[in-house]
Amino acid sequence: MIGEAELLAKVPTQLYIGGEWVDSTSGRSIEVVDPATGDVLLSIADASVDDGRRALDAAVEAKAEWAATAPRKRGELLRSAFDLLQERADEIALLMTLEMGKPLAEARGEVTYGGEFLRWFSEEAVRISGRYGPNPEGTGRMIVTHTPVGPSYLITPWNFPLAMATRKLAPAIAAGCTSVIKPAELTPLTTLYFARLLEEVGLPAGVVNVVTTSTSGEVSEPIIRDPRLRKLSFTGSTAVGQKLLTQAAQGVLRTSMELGGNAPFLVFEDADLDKAVDGAMLAKFRNIGQACTAANRFLVHQSVADEFAARITERVKQLRIGRGTEEGVGVGPLIDERAVDKADALVRDAVERGATLVTGGSRVDGAGTFYEPTVVTDVAPGSDILREEIFGPVVSIVPFSDEADAVTKANGTEYGLVAYAFTRDLARAQRLVESLESGMLGINVGVVSNAAAPFGGVKQSGIGREGGSEGIHEYLETKYVLTPDPFG
Ligand code: NAP
Repeated sequence: MIGEAELLAKVPTQLYIGGEWVDSTSGRSIEVVDPATGDVLLSIADASVDDGRRALDAAVEAKAEWAATAPRKRGELLRSAFDLLQERADEIALLMTLEMGKPLAEARGEVTYGGEFLRWFSEEAVRISGRYGPNPEGTGRMIVTHTPVGPSYLITPWNFPLAMATRKLAPAIAAGCTSVIKPAELTPLTTLYFARLLEEVGLPAGVVNVVTTSTSGEVSEPIIRDPRLRKLSFTGSTAVGQKLLTQAAQGVLRTSMELGGNAPFLVFEDADLDKAVDGAMLAKFRNIGQACTAANRFLVHQSVADEFAARITERVKQLRIGRGTEEGVGVGPLIDERAVDKADALVRDAVERGATLVTGGSRVDGAGTFYEPTVVTDVAPGSDILREEIFGPVVSIVPFSDEADAVTKANGTEYGLVAYAFTRDLARAQRLVESLESGMLGINVGVVSNAAAPFGGVKQSGIGREGGSEGIHEYLETKYVLTPDPFG
């Protein structure tokens, strides 16, 4: 296993524009910090508005040649990136743990998940098909074909530094689009490392450009409003997504929006409770609770609510807190002090409104931004914790009386990303497929993400889908052509 210093020495610290690693023109730098220790890991380039424009210039310049590159070649480059990522899996996993805090085993899981987008879209690149057939009148022939959308701006969050990047870059590359990617200021190192990997496998200059910046709003708006940009793909909070949609309206951009969630996790009276608790631990504690798919509200039938709470509390108490690089750690730090304040405020509000604090409920003293794994039960309606994304290791349990009550509670949010339900009743599960308002649903499982599946939400959780056969179409336009009847 590579040492931390040796690994950090391999991470590029400049911007990647037009196939060159270049300094920022801002004269500023970003200090990237390890959330487990508060120590600075690396200082990297802090892009200016001009740098952002230069990155878009490079994407525009490379656009025509990349769109004309054979799909097989585009696919093979992605496949090479997949293979090289496997070789470098330990390095990129460690890098994610250092800059984001997740336990190393989970970081390795993200390398697998993130890598799958490269493999999946390497296979999809050669399956961009269209159709041909007579019009209903029989007077002509209709052709439907797909063409690359064009230069794309990709904005990713800090919580899955690799997977959120590959989930956008791989379909863009496969579809023949060039792009500028902007990772979050808090976790830019993984994207820089990955861009170097793309360079190593021979991705042509300008196909992918990387800007890292501490002024994301200032740098992004001119890019989004630039008439040469054709696509905005954003993963992050609903509040920022709404702002960006307004900016994207000017150029009537194609947009993909992967926004916030408030996932309900339903446990019915007929559920296998052992499986439900296993699923709950995954759905809640993966990524230290900092996932858009994290179970935010545990809705449990009143007849099993106490039993479920007791069993999950027993598991939660066994979780070890610590730096993600340490063996056996299940809960790393939250990303920053603000995240700790938020989790703490949500728990306090719930308790003030009558919830019972069963375990945890405090920040951890000392270096790093840690919050105790926490369980609160009997959370009262109207509590903030039921409305907002917790984004931390907090289980909040609400009892329900029957299926109708469960569905009403589950749907009582403006979000609709994912839901989870545990039941042994097949007909009930089928009803839930239709009655729950979410883009994704896990039945008797605690994780649904898969590169081969369309990931995305309804309501204010987003627009569009990433992954699956749907994912590449986010980067393709549909063109319809009519020709006369060749026999007419
Ligand atoms: P965020 O604050 O919305 O930031 C997301 C990205 O947007 C970051 O790169 C951020 O850069 C950038 N950004 C912030 N303000 C911007 C602006 N005015 N213009 C352009 N870019 C801007 O969200 P976050 O706290 O990083 O991530 C957590 C959120 O993401 C949660 O709501 C979570 O549910 C959601 N999420 C959704 C999915 C999904 O697939 N649906 C997946 C993962 C996460 P800076 O941070 O550098 O400013």
